[in-house]
Amino acid sequence: MAVSERNFVPADSVGVLDSPEEVLTTMNADGSRNWIYPTPSTGRYYWQRLVVGWALIALFVALPIVQIGGKPAVFLDILHREFTFFGVTFYPTDTFLLLLLGIGTLVGVILFTALLGRVWCGWACPQTVYLEFVYRPIERWIEGKEHVRKRRDEGPWTFDKAWRKGAKWSLYLVFSLMLAHTFVAYFAGWENLLVWMQGSPTDHWGYFVMMAATTGLILFDFGFFREQMCTITCPYARFQSVLLDPDSLIVSYDEERGEPRGKGRDRDDLGDCVDCYACVRTCPTGIDIRDGLQMECIACTQCMDACDDIMDKMGYEPGLIQYSSEREDAGEERRLVRPRTVLYGLLLTLVAGLLVGALTTRGSYDVNIGRAVGQPFMVLPDESVANRIRVRVRNQTPKEAQYTIAVNEPAGAEVKVVGVSPITIPPQEMTRTEAWIVLPAPTLETGTVQSTIRVQFADGTTYTKTFPLLGPNSER
Ligand code: SF4
Ligand code: SF4
Repeated sequence: MAVSERNFVPADSVGVLDSPEEVLTTMNADGSRNWIYPTPSTGRYYWQRLVVGWALIALFVALPIVQIGGKPAVFLDILHREFTFFGVTFYPTDTFLLLLLGIGTLVGVILFTALLGRVWCGWACPQTVYLEFVYRPIERWIEGKEHVRKRRDEGPWTFDKAWRKGAKWSLYLVFSLMLAHTFVAYFAGWENLLVWMQGSPTDHWGYFVMMAATTGLILFDFGFFREQMCTITCPYARFQSVLLDPDSLIVSYDEERGEPRGKGRDRDDLGDCVDCYACVRTCPTGIDIRDGLQMECIACTQCMDACDDIMDKMGYEPGLIQYSSEREDAGEERRLVRPRTVLYGLLLTLVAGLLVGALTTRGSYDVNIGRAVGQPFMVLPDESVANRIRVRVRNQTPKEAQYTIAVNEPAGAEVKVVGVSPITIPPQEMTRTEAWIVLPAPTLETGTVQSTIRVQFADGTTYTKTFPLLGPNSER
C-alpha cells in the first residue's frame, strides 16, 4: 500500500518541521527532538475512545487479579514456564498447543489489520490509552493548555515552571508505579506482589530492582519518549505497509472535496478545507493527514474530530477527514471479502478449531515417569533389588487431586513412596515424587525386567507406563 515517505508540513503549524529533507515531524534536521504539543479534540470519537480507554485500563488492571479456576485470568509465569489465559494453563510440554496459540495470534493480528487497519493503535494499545487518557490529561491539568506549555517550556526556569514540572512528574511517578505493579503482576502474580510489597526491599531485592526499572521505563516512555514509541520503535507499526491493502480501514482526507484548500470568505473557487491546521495541531504524531496515508498515522481519529468541529462551524457536512480505504478514496466500493481476508479467516478458523479440539481432549493430568538421578538400583541386605524412580504429575484441572503410585507387574513387586502417600496436588500445580520399586531377589536374576507402573488418581483416572527395572545382571 502506498504510504507517504515524507511529511510536507508547513513551518507555521504548531510543533512541526520546517524542512522537506526531514522524515519525521518529531525530529529536527540535526536529529534532535522536535517536541510537539497536540491539542485535544473533544468530538464524538474522542468520547467513544475515552469510554473504551478507561474500560481497557480497568481490564488491564483486573486481568492479573481476577481469579478463574484458582489462577489469575492472565498469568505469564515465566519462572515456572506456565502461561494461563482465562482458566486454561499452557505448559512447556504443550508444544502443539503453544504452537497453535502462536499461529492463531499471528494470523488474528494479520486479519485484524487487513480489515481494520490500525484501529488497535488508535483505540486499544496501552501506549495510546495511557498516554492520551492518563498522562496528557495530568499534564494539561498542571501545566495548562498547549500554547501556554510551549511558551513556558521555551522560557527560562522560574518558580512557577519548577513547581508545575515537579508536581507533574510526581504524579507521573505515582501513576507509573501503579502501572508498573499492574505490568509486573502479569508475570509475578498479584498475590506474590502483595507479599513483596509488604516486606523490606532488602528481603526482595529482585522485586525491588525489577519494579524500579519498570517504573523508570514507563516514566521515560510516557513522560518523554511518547509518540516516538509509535513512529520509531514499535515493530507492529513498521509492518503496516505489508499488512494493509487498498481495502483496509484507514483515516483519510477527502482530497476531492477539500482541494483546493484555502483560507478566506470567498470560497467559490475553493474546496471545503479552510487550511486551518486544526487537524495537524491535534495530531499526536505531528503529521498532516492531508499529505496522504503515512506510517506515523496511528488512526487515533483526533484529526477527524478536529476537522468535524471546523466543518460544523463552517456549516459544512462532517467527514472531510474520515474513516475510509484507498479503494473508497479512488471512488470504488470497499471490499470486506477478498482473497486474503477469506484465506486468513479460514486459516484462523482452522487453527481455532484445532486449538479447541486439542484443549478439550487434553487429559486432566500430565504424568511423566522416569529414573531418578543417581544410582539406578540398590541391592538390599535380603538381596531384593530396589529401583529408584521419579514421578512428575501436573494437575491440569481446577480442583485439588490425590494420587497413589502402584506397580501392576511383575508379581511380587512393591512400591515404597519417599514421603507421604496418597500425594495431594493443588489445582494447576505440579508435584515431583520419588519412589522405590522393590523386587524380590530371584526376579532380576536374568537381567532387566519390564514393570508396569500405575498412577491412580482419586477421581478414577489411571495412568500406566511400562518401565524397565534394572538389577546387577542387567546390560546398561
Ligand atoms: S493523522 Fe489523524 S488519525 Fe492519524 S495519528 Fe494524526 S490525528 Fe491520529
Ligand atoms: S482541520 Fe479540516 S479544514 Fe482544517 S486544515 Fe485540517 S482538513 Fe482542512
